Amino acid sequence: MSELSLEGHLHRRCGGHYALAVEEVTIRLSGMTARVDRAMYKCDKCGDRQHTVEQREDAEREAILTMRSQHSLLTGKEIRHFRESVGLNTAQLGELLHGLPKGIVEGWEKGRYLQSPAVDAMLRSLSDVEERERRATRAGFVLPPLPGTVAADTSHSSDDELNPSAPEPDPVGSGVQP
Ligand SMILES: [Zn+2]
Repeated sequence: MSELSLEGHLHRRCGGHYALAVEEVTIRLSGMTARVDRAMYKCDKCGDRQHTVEQREDAEREAILTMRSQHSLLTGKEIRHFRESVGLNTAQLGELLHGLPKGIVEGWEKGRYLQSPAVDAMLRSLSDVEERERRATRAGFVLPPLPGTVAADTSHSSDDELNPSAPEPDPVGSGVQP
């Protein structure tokens, strides 16, 4: 499914035609800003500018990349690796971060959303197990055992719902959409 190109299209209001062009824009996200080049279609007669959804999304991704490197924020991959290394699903990680919806966590991991520097610092602090436990207690749930560790003395060797080799554990509970 590709977006309709406006290249060469007639601008009925003025009789001009649209051509691909680039503009420099400032994008603001999570209290940060980045200057990026954004593609658009510009009318050669009146200068009217039109953006496709793809052009907007590309510019936003570019801004996210720029902000991540400017503010040394964790990448989506790093967040995901961390989350999986401590056996949390996206809903649980969100819970540890003041109850953020899992969709936000998923957005970070996919590079669609960007965490603020404050949340980034909070994420990093979670590599400390005591910090994780503190936050889990506050959020009202018990941390799952770390992947690969055998739960100390639980007598039931039943279904391991946290099998780390399982593909994408479906987040339980939560899922309250704002
Ligand atoms: Zn025009």
